[in-house]
Amino acid sequence: MNREERKESLRSDETYRDVSAIDQRTGRRYWEYYVVKQLGEPKKEKVNIYHDVFVQNTGRLSLTIETKTQIFIGSGTVEITGGDQQYFTFSRVNDRIVIPGSSLKGDIRQYAEALSFSCYDASCEDELCPACRIFGSAPFHFKGKVSFEDAKLLNGKTRIITIPQRWGPRIEYENGRKFYYHSAPLIESRDREWLEVVETGGYFNFNLAFENLEDWELGLLILAMGVAPGREFPLKIGGGKNRGLGLVKLSLELDRSFLFLSPEEMFSSPRPKAIKVKEENLNNWVEKYLEKMSSGTREELDKIIKKFREGKPDGQR
Ligand SMILES: [Zn+2]
Repeated sequence: MNREERKESLRSDETYRDVSAIDQRTGRRYWEYYVVKQLGEPKKEKVNIYHDVFVQNTGRLSLTIETKTQIFIGSGTVEITGGDQQYFTFSRVNDRIVIPGSSLKGDIRQYAEALSFSCYDASCEDELCPACRIFGSAPFHFKGKVSFEDAKLLNGKTRIITIPQRWGPRIEYENGRKFYYHSAPLIESRDREWLEVVETGGYFNFNLAFENLEDWELGLLILAMGVAPGREFPLKIGGGKNRGLGLVKLSLELDRSFLFLSPEEMFSSPRPKAIKVKEENLNNWVEKYLEKMSSGTREELDKIIKKFREGKPDGQR
């Protein structure tokens, strides 16, 4: 197949760009994805990562994930249906359907990168950008200050479905990141994939532990998960994002989210001394993050969040 390949940049007056493609079968043009422009050059700072020093916020957040469309998180293995059809299975641990923490962390990191002055490839060394400080950097041998547990399916059904395979032109955006719309147009293809998905209306939950996060870092994390009060949006996770899969809404369970009172408490399970996270904490953390930005950047940030929330091309109802 002859795939078109090219490099493009977003202009300085664009915050994001809706990108269309042509359906090879019908010749019709359709909206494929949007590209969010990098907010700016990564702002890197020298950081000392002392895991044994307790200076900032350490605690645990409890979250639920509601599936707004079918979602697919691949296990990497293939099974055979009764009808001899091969399909890709949903990720499991001990026969239980889960979204691996590493997969969640990767998807949420992409939103954090788009909402901050960060690098896009976890490549910082010596000095770390905001995303590398929070989520980690390979060259720095740093795992980050957050760790995501696997999200377990509490309530929901799985089903084996078939969706068309799709290839668009391969365009690289030098200063932006691709995101997919909430729903995908119906593009047919003779090549199809069979997947095991979790149906719409399913619920997962997971815990996220954080260690030594500054207020503004927590603010960025809260924003990137789409749970900041007044700035909520759903996320796209997993596979098949360009074919209408993967839309989820995260919610923070404040009753089960804690800030530890001292470092030792982190290890004094099952009842560490801690205080519950309140909505005013969330507002304060987000405010601390926004304070680091110029008013122009804050405006751009809110435009991006609005785009994440609407998840459709501009001007389309
Ligand atoms: Zn970085």
